Amino acid sequence: MERSTRQRTALRAVIDAAGRPLSPQEVLEAAQLEVPALSLATVYRNIKALLDAGEISAVSLPGNSPRYESARHEHHHHFQCTQCMRVFDVHACPGDLSGLAPAGFQVERHELTLYGRCSDCATPKKASGKSKAPAGRRAPT
Ligand SMILES: [Zn+2]
Ligand SMILES: [Zn+2]
Repeated sequence: MERSTRQRTALRAVIDAAGRPLSPQEVLEAAQLEVPALSLATVYRNIKALLDAGEISAVSLPGNSPRYESARHEHHHHFQCTQCMRVFDVHACPGDLSGLAPAGFQVERHELTLYGRCSDCATPKKASGKSKAPAGRRAPT
């Protein structure tokens, strides 16, 4: 159907353009700029179709409902902000972690999630309060 194809294309474009994994609610909010009549049920239905087609993949973090990102992404990791709960991509990788596994074990893959505050949340919006966030650690170059 013409209409459903257009919706699916719009949703996929939103997910591709986001540059970070989006929850269905975030997909809905971004896609409504393009397709105002969109409902959350339609978003869920199209997410399932895009997953089945292998065009997007699910990002499941413990204690969170899944988020979705473009399946074209290469190996990467994620950062979850403990304040706004948004998930961001981390394009650095510590590399070979097989030395962490017990002797005789073979590591096939790894997933890594950093937790902390995103740049929006790390910068206090008000002058009140003296809480000072520790400086972020930089990845070794
Ligand atoms: Zn945040
Ligand atoms: Zn990695």
